Amino acid sequence: KMNTDLGQHILKNPGVAQAIVDKAGLKQSDIVLEVGPGTGNLTVKILEKARKVIAVEMDPRMAAELTKRVQGKPEQKKLEVLLGDVCKTELPYFDVCISNTPYQISSPLVFKLLALSPAPRTCVLMFQREFAMRLVARPGDALYCRLSVNAQMWAKCTHIMKVGKNNFKPPPQVESSVVRLEIKNPRPQISYDEWDGLLRIVFVRKNKTIAAGFKSSAVMGMVEKNYRTWCATTGVPLDDGDVDIDMAAGGDDIGDDEEMEIDEDGVGVVKKVVIKRGSKKNRGKVADLVKSKVEKVLSETELGEKRAGKCDEADFLKLLYELNKEGIHFS
Ligand code: SAM
Repeated sequence: KMNTDLGQHILKNPGVAQAIVDKAGLKQSDIVLEVGPGTGNLTVKILEKARKVIAVEMDPRMAAELTKRVQGKPEQKKLEVLLGDVCKTELPYFDVCISNTPYQISSPLVFKLLALSPAPRTCVLMFQREFAMRLVARPGDALYCRLSVNAQMWAKCTHIMKVGKNNFKPPPQVESSVVRLEIKNPRPQISYDEWDGLLRIVFVRKNKTIAAGFKSSAVMGMVEKNYRTWCATTGVPLDDGDVDIDMAAGGDDIGDDEEMEIDEDGVGVVKKVVIKRGSKKNRGKVADLVKSKVEKVLSETELGEKRAGKCDEADFLKLLYELNKEGIHFS
């Protein structure tokens, strides 16, 4: 019996299975990672084309069925089955990833693959149609979101084919699509936390201006806290010479903690930050300083009046670079 909690929708159309494997452009020397092999409909086709398949499967019954399917055949030696949750598995080296992915792990799987070093040559992955369209959405598209910008920062993302629900047994609720991810090599040399921290802010309301995103007191509180940390670690005086701050008023004796939540539209989590503010006297001034730095960058780059939903990677990179130069950080 199928366990649909584990997203067990077996691909029953051999033509689709073959097309997925063909799109991966496998070489006889390749090691392939397959996530969620199930009963092995894709696995047997991959085994024909590759040197080795490492299949990560969470359901022991499925793993046993797959093992049985190749037992006594020449392919048996080429298949290694790892039992467990792919999200918690330390992945060995592989050249290509192929997966008819359980949809509930789409986002963690993508981010796990994007973070791999060395990066695989290519990944061919089945997703729920909407998730697939988010991965490939471009500025101005309705589905363009933080996920799109993040994925496209680290990989070239291409929609390969649509797969209707009747190609699966049992059919899922939603339509599916196959996507190819070609991870950029060399990897862009930016901090993921800084990049994603900025995107979380500007994509809270992707159809509002970026300047509006920075008007939120929760956001500015976080930016101010990070600025204080940055000053402390780099030795830059908090007042930066621009604003007169009366440090004689004492240190962090106020203990004024504040909790913040940044929510966002796309897939992901809610982030909580506790803000500890400094002395009564300098806290308003540091807040003003940080605010003026942000405003200066937003106006000089002319990005303040743009909407995140219309900006591309180059815009966000420019914004992050200029803000970082001013000591404004997001992690
Ligand atoms: N690849 C097979 C096919 O195309 O017919 C099965 C695909 S089915 C949509 C997803 C498979 O992933 C199931 O076999 C399920 O048990 C497995 N699975 C679910 N969550 C998993 C996880 N976190 N790690 C590894 N495998 C998982």
